[in-house]
Amino acid sequence: MLIARLICSEPACAAAYDATAASLAELETLACDCGCGLWVRRVAEAPGPGERPVALELLVVA
Ligand SMILES: [Zn+2]
Repeated sequence: MLIARLICSEPACAAAYDATAASLAELETLACDCGCGLWVRRVAEAPGPGERPVALELLVVA
């Protein structure tokens, strides 16, 4: 399971989302309420009990 922070690809839209998904492909199917696509700004594996999340920087260009 992944935990991601996503922002809208439309510069005039300040929307940001946190999402959980089973895969990056699933994250890439998400869209903003305004109809634009979302950029994945940060994604991490959801930590198991006693684990710390490992942060990876990722930018998906729509
Ligand atoms: Zn938007």
